[in-house]
Amino acid sequence: MAVAGFAINRAGTLAFMPMQREVSAMIDPFGRAVTYLRVSVTDRCDFRCVYCMAEDMVFLPKKDLLSLEELDRLCGAFIRHGVTKLRLTGGEPLVRRDVMWLIRKLGERIGNGLEELTITTNGSQLAKYADDLMAAGVRRINVSIDTLNAEKFAEITRWGKLPAVLNGVMAAKAAGLKLKINAVALKGVNEDEYDSMIEWCGVHGFDLCLIETMPLGEIDADRTEQFLPLSLVRSRLQRRWTLSDSDYLTGGPARYMNVAETGQRIGFITPLTHNFCEGCNRVRLTCTGTLYMCLGQDDAADLRGPLRAAESDEVLDAAIFEAIARKPKGHDFVIDRAKARPAVARHMSVTGG
Ligand code: SAM
Ligand code: SF4
Repeated sequence: MAVAGFAINRAGTLAFMPMQREVSAMIDPFGRAVTYLRVSVTDRCDFRCVYCMAEDMVFLPKKDLLSLEELDRLCGAFIRHGVTKLRLTGGEPLVRRDVMWLIRKLGERIGNGLEELTITTNGSQLAKYADDLMAAGVRRINVSIDTLNAEKFAEITRWGKLPAVLNGVMAAKAAGLKLKINAVALKGVNEDEYDSMIEWCGVHGFDLCLIETMPLGEIDADRTEQFLPLSLVRSRLQRRWTLSDSDYLTGGPARYMNVAETGQRIGFITPLTHNFCEGCNRVRLTCTGTLYMCLGQDDAADLRGPLRAAESDEVLDAAIFEAIARKPKGHDFVIDRAKARPAVARHMSVTGG
């Protein structure tokens, strides 16, 4: 297929190629290949986690959403251009109506360019969907659980119920899915629980990943009070656990360590204390077809217009390559103590975590 786009030319620089014969890989201006697409299939959620959303969130009008067919077509275009890993996220991906249709369609692309299809979920719907996810070709999932204390869980998520999430987690394990538990490190809230979470994950064969809070979107709380640097957490953990560097890579931003006592891994996502942008291979698509080339920057490209402009993919392909050519070097998150304003106005639930 003849298609216009940006690509690395023979001189090794990024150039616009008006009529390429073959669709090329997406290489950004810093030479990084984009191979990982995160798709927020909805900005809605059945929880209201305190660090993620305000309680009275205003969601996007349903009429602005891409249909599931459109999301599948967009994902297909990215896969043709070198995306090998797809993660569905949100909001809560499993609350979007008929989302299993999309997951099955995307699952059919595994082995056909796509190597891995996965999701990040709050676990509330997992008991219902675990077997279907496995049948669709999903093998690994991330479940977000910040605490194993039911009361605290209700406080953090505002609307969530820990027993339902744990049921879902056990259903996923029984279905044969590999699980990683994501916990946001919250100062004074769950910082006394990491030892027991490591133990619990060890018993069940789950990896654990701790995440620093990121300044995304207005919430009701003060983020400077929530922020806990993971460098501090790691040195505390090392008093109790034997941690050694792991070369385990998932294509995501976490750095892993092996926990000798449990045989599992612990990951650290440290956007604030350690810049994780250097090897960034990711872009993020929202449920309205906006492509964010960086989680921590406002620049974005509209792909809904190009997607709907024609049935053939030429206009869409050109828009994708034009966007990749604008991928910035990195984010500049800082917790702005003076203004107490988020670094980026949109919530994590819009861009997808
Ligand atoms: N609803 C799903 C879930 O909770 O797993 C998927 C979407 S959620 C936005 C994805 C991840 O982002 C979750 O692990 C959540 O804890 C994390 N997250 C949300 N807001 C965050 C913030 N401001 N800083 C750091 N992590 C955040
Ligand atoms: Fe919902 Fe996930 Fe945000 Fe919690 S972190 S409010 S579960 S989108």
